[in-house]
Amino acid sequence: QISIFWFRRDLRLHDNAGLYHALKSGNPVLPIFIFDRNILDKLEDKKDKRIQFIHNAITEIQEQLQALGSTILVKYGTPEEVFPALLNEYNVSAIYTNHDYEPYAQIRDEAVKEYAMTEAADFYTFKDQAIFEKNEVLSGAGTPYTVFTPYSRKWKEKVNTFYLKSYPNEKYFNNFLKTEKMDIPSLAEMGFQSTATVFPKKEVRDNIVKNYAEKRDFPAIEGTSKLSVHLRFGTVSIRELARTAQKLSETWLNELIWRDFYFNILHHFPHVGQGVSFRREYDKIQWRNNEDEFKKWCEGKTGYPIVDAGMRELNTTGFMHNRVRMIVASFLTKHLLIDWRWGEAYFAQKLLDFDLSANNGGWQWASGSGCDAAPYFRVFNPRLQTEKFDKNLEYIKKWVPELNSFDYPLPMVDHDFARKRVLEVYQKALKGA
Ligand code: FAD
Repeated sequence: QISIFWFRRDLRLHDNAGLYHALKSGNPVLPIFIFDRNILDKLEDKKDKRIQFIHNAITEIQEQLQALGSTILVKYGTPEEVFPALLNEYNVSAIYTNHDYEPYAQIRDEAVKEYAMTEAADFYTFKDQAIFEKNEVLSGAGTPYTVFTPYSRKWKEKVNTFYLKSYPNEKYFNNFLKTEKMDIPSLAEMGFQSTATVFPKKEVRDNIVKNYAEKRDFPAIEGTSKLSVHLRFGTVSIRELARTAQKLSETWLNELIWRDFYFNILHHFPHVGQGVSFRREYDKIQWRNNEDEFKKWCEGKTGYPIVDAGMRELNTTGFMHNRVRMIVASFLTKHLLIDWRWGEAYFAQKLLDFDLSANNGGWQWASGSGCDAAPYFRVFNPRLQTEKFDKNLEYIKKWVPELNSFDYPLPMVDHDFARKRVLEVYQKALKGA
């Protein structure tokens, strides 16, 4: 009899809750990963960097497991196909995994659990990617928080060493199934290609965290951790990072709490994951949705340098600085009156750190339809944002080198005109709301 541990967005052997419980259960553990065709087949870009990132992470795990005389079993297919085959081949007593809060994942996990039960195998799942989840942080009245500040206050009241303790997986490393190495399907076999991408490093730099509060808003300097892709795929442990944050920077800790907060919103208000505004009255807005304008925004050719720099950074690297994400999102929804869902979908294709809950939260915040909304009449002024956060145009010049030449387009819309237009459209939609 063996136990299976199913990796998803928790691609590490250390401090991994579900893996810890699997290893402790006593049966030899076979770790598996599925390159899920339900997800992969929908990706249009065959050079999608995230597939490469996952492939690298799995390869690293494979090397660590080999050193322990074990292996990871990696399949390319759908969970619906893979589990029946596995349960046929091995005598599986239980499947262990970690919680995933996204709508597709919930349905997938329910189906695997039901199937496992018909085969007399148990299905166990654990909290791993958040510090607090589901109903762990509720208001005094027992309701979910919809505003960040009181949520974070309660989060900080509740947190203690128990919640931030690492799981000592290493103690049980002997319990991996001893077996020959099994080959990992190559990117090419799955129809993908690798690129020359250099991924952000998997390290927490103490000096960045220490200076975070002063430096985080300036896209030209390395003021933020760039750990988002690692948090997204679980190549780092949130518990370790939260302990570092507690020691070094409350501002940075707040960012980690934002992440929990948006998991919490998606869990309690699943309509946000189904294309519906958090504040439903915002779905009455008459978007202009001009496709040519959308294309200019995507390509970074709006004539607003800070917007264009951000979009080009995204298109080239799969990353964009948070300050600039806010500016480009505001520009799309407010200046161009393009539905936030278009921007959300574009980010979902391009961001290495794409996460449904944080991305949706960011977009709805920018459009004003979200929880903890910035008032809708606040329209970011790209010029003033540039003066404050990229005064010497360092960031802009890096991504828009043709800035001062005739090649650079004129602003596609006048700021004052756009501001007036969006206020009218929003007011009309929200009248009486
Ligand atoms: P740091 O500033 O070092 O912060 C540390 C970590 O805290 C981040 O890695 C991230 O995991 C978390 N975090 C920080 N800010 C937020 C936030 N506002 N919401 C949730 N978690 C946060 N973040 C994503 O991880 N995935 C997304 O798909 C995503 N989409 C966004 C879309 C928009 C329109 C906006 C405005 C923000 C979005 N963010 C998203 C939040 C934020 O921009 C990124 O988390 C951050 O820029 C990542 O850089 P970093 O790792 O250097 O973060």
